[in-house]
Order: sequence, then C-alpha cells, then structure tokens
Amino acid sequence: MYRLLCLLFLGAVLAKHEIYEGYAVYEVRVKHHDQTQYFNQLQYQLDVDVWSYAAPGRPGSILVSKDKRVELEELLTAEDIEFEVKTENIKEFLDLEDKLLADVSRKSYNASRSAGLPFDRIYTYHQVDAFLEMLAKEYPETVKLVNAGKSFEGRDIKYLKISTTDFQDESKPIVFMESLLHAREWITLPATLYAIHKLVIDVTERDLLQDIDWIILPIANPDGYVHSHKQARFWRKNRATGYMIGNICMGVDLNRNFNFNWGQASSNVVCMDNFHGRGPFSEPETAIIRDIFAEYSDRIELFLDIHSFGSMILYGWGTGVLPPNALILHMVGVQMAHAIDAVKMSWNRDYIVGNCALVLYQASGTAGDYGKVAGVELSYTYELPGLRFGLGTFGFLVDPNFIEQAGFETWEGIKVGARYVRDNYKVKRGL
Ligand SMILES: [Zn+2]
Repeated sequence: MYRLLCLLFLGAVLAKHEIYEGYAVYEVRVKHHDQTQYFNQLQYQLDVDVWSYAAPGRPGSILVSKDKRVELEELLTAEDIEFEVKTENIKEFLDLEDKLLADVSRKSYNASRSAGLPFDRIYTYHQVDAFLEMLAKEYPETVKLVNAGKSFEGRDIKYLKISTTDFQDESKPIVFMESLLHAREWITLPATLYAIHKLVIDVTERDLLQDIDWIILPIANPDGYVHSHKQARFWRKNRATGYMIGNICMGVDLNRNFNFNWGQASSNVVCMDNFHGRGPFSEPETAIIRDIFAEYSDRIELFLDIHSFGSMILYGWGTGVLPPNALILHMVGVQMAHAIDAVKMSWNRDYIVGNCALVLYQASGTAGDYGKVAGVELSYTYELPGLRFGLGTFGFLVDPNFIEQAGFETWEGIKVGARYVRDNYKVKRGL
C-alpha cells in the first residue's frame, strides 16, 4: 500500500504542468489599429490564450498550443504582423517557477504577531486563511475578519476590516481593495498582503491607519486560485459547473460577471476565458463583492481591483466612454503611477495610466466599472508589472525575487490614492 501511494505521488509530481507541454509564448508587435484589432480577436478565431493585448509601441503576448502554432504563424504573417517566440515550451518555465518557489518554501516561517509573513513566497489559500485568522485574534483592536460567504465549491471568502474606530466613525473614508479575482495572477496576492502588513503589523505611517478604514479581500476567487495551484497554472476563471453538458468547459470570468453593460464586451461561450456567466452576479464570488459595495457604499471612496500584468492603472468605463470625473481619475491615477515608478525595478517599464478600453481593450461587467456604478468616486484596476526572470513577458509566473518588491512598490501607489481620498473626503463632507 505504501509503495502504491509512493508511486501515485511520484506520478502526480511528474504529471505537473503536463497539460502545458509544448505550449509556446509569442510576443507580437502591431504597427497600426487594424493589426491591433486583428491580434486582439485571435482568441476567438483560434482559441488561443491572449495573455496581454497589443497596441502600437506595446507588444502583446499569447500562449499557443503546439498544434496551433503553424496556423498562428501563417495568420500573423499574412497580416504582416511581427512576432517572436519567447519560449518554445512554457512548461520549462513552469518547472522553473516551481523550483524557485519550492526552494524558498522549504524555509520554515512562523506567522507571529510581531513578524507577520515573510514576503519571499506565494501563499496558498489555507496559509492566507490562517494568517487572516491569526491577525484577527492578535490584533482585535484594529482587525476584524469577516467571513462573507462561500465560493461555488464551498470555500470561505474572507476579508479584513482594518480600523482604529471599528468602522463607526462616519467621518473617515473607506478604501476597498481586492486581489486574485483572476486566479492565475498570483503576483497580485503580495500586494494586498503587503498592505495588510503595513496597516496592522509594521505601522510606520500611522495616518493611513488613523484616518482611513480599510477593507481588504486578498483571495476574491478561492476556487480558481486553488485550481491554479493544483491543476492548471494558467486558470483564470472561477470553477462554476453546470453551464455545459458533461462540464467539458467550466468557469466564469468573474471580471465580466458584474452588472454594468453585462454581456456587451465578453463571451457567451463557456469555453472562453472571458465567459460572462448566465447573468450579472450569477456567481457567488461576484455577489459577495456586490454586497460589500452595498453595505459600505456611502463611504468607499477608493476601490482598487488588483490584477496582472502590464504595469497599468486603468479606469472606466470599459466601453471607452469617460465618466464625468475622468480628469480626477486620471490625475490621481498618474500620481499613484509616479509613486510606483519612483521605486520600481529598472527592468519594468513605467506605468501607463488611462481609460481601460483606450489603453487595453473593451470589457464589460468588470469589477472596476461596477465600483463606479456602486458610487465609488475613484475606482481603478491595477495591472502589476509583467517582466520576469530578466527574460521578458512571462507575467503570470512568479519570480520570488519580485514578491516583496511587488508588495512594496504597489503600496507606494496605494498610499497616494488613499491620502488623496482622505484629504478630499473632509472637504466633501464639510469637515
Ligand atoms: Zn486579471
């Protein structure tokens, strides 16, 4: 029996990332609008995974299975679109990521009251959960842990409320931030965990804790996140079933499932990575976020939905139409970006700030747009930087050397946004 278990375990280890064997990553350079449009729709035409959208002057990247490579190259050549193969086999980089993360994971850590978590690794769902529980127990004066409900597969979705006044002081604005709405964007988790660290454990700028109430949801899509650790590293959606007979394809893109222009710029095909679900808030994970907005909407002044990758700070609307306060959104966005750029790693490019549809692509039913609908003046999507291993665009993969930096530099931007709403909330409320 023991030998059988050993063999089964070995089989599981060997099989890791097997589904990505022979998948190549292409970097693609477009010269004008027509080529941009063409590249960005390839996910529909060829059923490939567009990792980042292209624009003139900014390459896009795409993950392609072995059997589709010839066709892709023919299509790009016919359209006179330049491309470069960044890796012939992404599995090698997945194995590298595993090795690097496993090396640091062997070092033991003790998530104590004073030390917190070391920022040298990516934590699992259970590790994050234990950390949040520990904080609520050790810091009852500032931290409350809210169990907001269950994911599709029944995992708890928990967020922290951080406040010196137990959320009772109406004169304070609330900053709400979340990460991992998209499961594979692992580098976004250190951003929320770092913010928690600086607000609870290592408080060096007391005004941020004193003057502002914080809601921080580190794992917005727990089922997808667990799946991306165990089965499919590049899984993006949640794990909802019942959309297709036999569940050949499953999962809803949670960042297309919110109720603003739902279904207009997303897919109704279950197998697609931007499948919008059967209706707005059809998924428990998005309904929970909607309810957070509903409960605190009169005081949430800043919402940050942390994604990766691309070094961008984006605001609505997803259609390309600008909201009435677009100038303020842009101005505060630029200030946040400047703060990050001032401390960023030299190999990552400067942040781009702009309307999400104009900078990136049209999208509907996003959390960022819904935040605005729910009454949040300043609602942004962050796209954290994506260059890895000194090799280019492997943006979903994590280099342990970038984990603390991702937390630290993003926090520089968040602070600027938080202080802006703090200062203006007083004016707004006539205080
Ligand atoms: Zn994302």
